[in-house]
Amino acid sequence: MRLCKIATFSRGLMRFHKAELFFFLLMGLVGLGGVFSWAAFSAATGGIVVGGMDTSAKFAFMGLVLATLSVVCGVFLIFPIMSRGLRERGKLQEMTESLSVRSLSLEHAAVTDGLTGMHNRRYFDDALTEYLNAFGRIGKPIGMVILDLDHFKIVNDTHGHDVGDEVLRQVAECLQVFTRYHDVLARLGGEEFAILSPNITERQLYNLSDRIRQAISELKIKNGNVTLKVTVSVGLAIWDGIESGESLYRRADKQLYEAKRQGRNRVCAA
Ligand code: GH3
Ligand code: MG
Ligand code: MG
Repeated sequence: MRLCKIATFSRGLMRFHKAELFFFLLMGLVGLGGVFSWAAFSAATGGIVVGGMDTSAKFAFMGLVLATLSVVCGVFLIFPIMSRGLRERGKLQEMTESLSVRSLSLEHAAVTDGLTGMHNRRYFDDALTEYLNAFGRIGKPIGMVILDLDHFKIVNDTHGHDVGDEVLRQVAECLQVFTRYHDVLARLGGEEFAILSPNITERQLYNLSDRIRQAISELKIKNGNVTLKVTVSVGLAIWDGIESGESLYRRADKQLYEAKRQGRNRVCAA
């Protein structure tokens, strides 16, 4: 029975952290010190003498011992645990911060195209859904442009993959110059790019696409002493207000196919 009580008591104690137990000990010592000081004060004012030594002196001595023990307990038991805890917390905070920076950069990497630094297809698909919802609610038009480099395989085959990559980077830069703040520009994959342009009429979108087509055809990409020129075919469609993003993409893609079919380096609209 007694063993059982002891076991329950020690289990109860285990719920506390070491620092908390030492703190209780410190409080106990300080409390006892207070009791002895009070007793010493009462004895001194009562003038009691026990065994040749003034009782107040004995109580005062006990108080002094307890005060010393309290300081020892604070300095050697509680302080080291506290400072270790603080150091560990600091380290943990550092780790958490570097982890959150890492997860932010991973998030950024997940929606960015590594070659051109522009957004990737994943970002574009999410933005498309959001734009259709947002602009659909206020009844504003949205246009989609899909661009595909013409005969890009020949560029790679003739000049090498690295030159092909450089072409893609320069085309990406050119597209960036022509897009507005709220346009969503992305590399959908390979040599295919797309622009999502809200609040624009079909005529304006056609003109913008044709200016881009022209600018790309005027790019002079240097490879040693060879100067390379590329062209792009463009398909575009304006959202009808009810169709899905996928259907809008299919319609713009159909126009891109039509531009290729008609001889490339041109813009076709739905
Ligand atoms: P089309 O005018 O019909 O579009 O012809 P194309 O040659 O452009 O199209 P095709 O689909 O036959 O070839 C696309 C080429 O794009 C093949 C592939 O090697 C190249 N490509 C795709 N991604 C990259 C890339 O990241 N870097 C480079 N350098 N080439 C790429
Ligand atoms: Mg192509
Ligand atoms: Mg293609």
